[in-house]
Amino acid sequence: MSSIDKIRHIIAVASGKGGVGKSTISTNLALALHERGFRVGLMDADIYGPSQPKLLGQKNARVRVNERQELLPTENHGVAFISMGLLMAEDGPVIWRAPMAMKAIQQFLHQVDWGDLDILLLDLPPGTGDVQITLAQQAPLSGAVIVSTPQDMALGIARKGLKMFEQVNVPILGVIENMSGYTCEHCGELTKLFQSGGARRMAEEMDTCFLGHIPLDPKITECSDEGSPILVQFPDHPASNAFLEIADQLAKLLNEQDKTRTPEPTDMRILDTGHLQTEWPDQHVGNHSPLKLRASCQCARCVNEDTGEKILDTSKIPLNVAINGVKRVGRYALAITFSDGHSSGIYTYQRLRDECECKECLEGQGVEEAFDV
Ligand code: ADP
Repeated sequence: MSSIDKIRHIIAVASGKGGVGKSTISTNLALALHERGFRVGLMDADIYGPSQPKLLGQKNARVRVNERQELLPTENHGVAFISMGLLMAEDGPVIWRAPMAMKAIQQFLHQVDWGDLDILLLDLPPGTGDVQITLAQQAPLSGAVIVSTPQDMALGIARKGLKMFEQVNVPILGVIENMSGYTCEHCGELTKLFQSGGARRMAEEMDTCFLGHIPLDPKITECSDEGSPILVQFPDHPASNAFLEIADQLAKLLNEQDKTRTPEPTDMRILDTGHLQTEWPDQHVGNHSPLKLRASCQCARCVNEDTGEKILDTSKIPLNVAINGVKRVGRYALAITFSDGHSSGIYTYQRLRDECECKECLEGQGVEEAFDV
């Protein structure tokens, strides 16, 4: 188990395109969560344009390694962070960055000693490319937060980011609207510069949460440029309060997720019979036959996403279909590869528990014999 697997909640902060304030929000949200008592880390996964060393006032810091050759995060203002910016010279050539990107991402995922963290925020690169998809699939994410400006919301750019997470089965925790109005320096009143409210509408449409909005405020940039974020310099500023309110909303959502989430299996293995055996924190030992798993696949190739109708012709599944591989997806599901080449199915822990074929569960359902190959 690598250090990242022990972190209670990993949250991706994403945006449909660059320049919407995703990194600024990641920094201040990390600080706000720290302020609320959480042990927080920040992974600057924006490989091509790392900004966290500057935002967190550690531009000249360089990464250190421990005795196991794992990277050690740098810490400032109470937030531990890792960034490509700590691994290379600030003006390092872009040509060197490109081939290093995926390698660095793998290292960030598996070879960082995070210590004891409650929450890790991933500041993703903008858009929906390979790095984002790799992180969405390989990091055990609790969910993603989408940052957008009112203009991009209107143009549907934020929706693209949202869709990418849906496609890889990562829950969307909510949407943050940035630069949604201007707060008067003197009276603190919020003036709307663009048509706002789009984030709230989109959140409703996409059945996710509106987490809040951050005003457009030159103080935010000023503080960021000084490497001492607004939440550190001006904790009572209206923008700082907005970050704290979003942190509270997020903490509430994570708390609810903790209460309702089906626990992960503690272990799993493929038995000599070809069945998948799962072990759970409540000592339950589950059993799942490859044929039933394959036949009950819910992926878009097997079930019509809109109507819920089955597309898969189960009579075409070879009776001796076998499980070739199993891996965890986030904190909520397994991805299974079968011998007939099918690999797009995601099996949530809840479904595995509900459809368990161990003797005890089958007897509970009044079934006498296991569905077997
Ligand atoms: P991204 O990570 O989406 O590319 P950044 O966080 O780097 O965006 O922000 C882009 C620029 O916008 C930076 O100069 C930042 O200081 C500024 N900025 C971000 N949010 C705000 C805000 N709410 N008010 C004023 N300036 C902001």
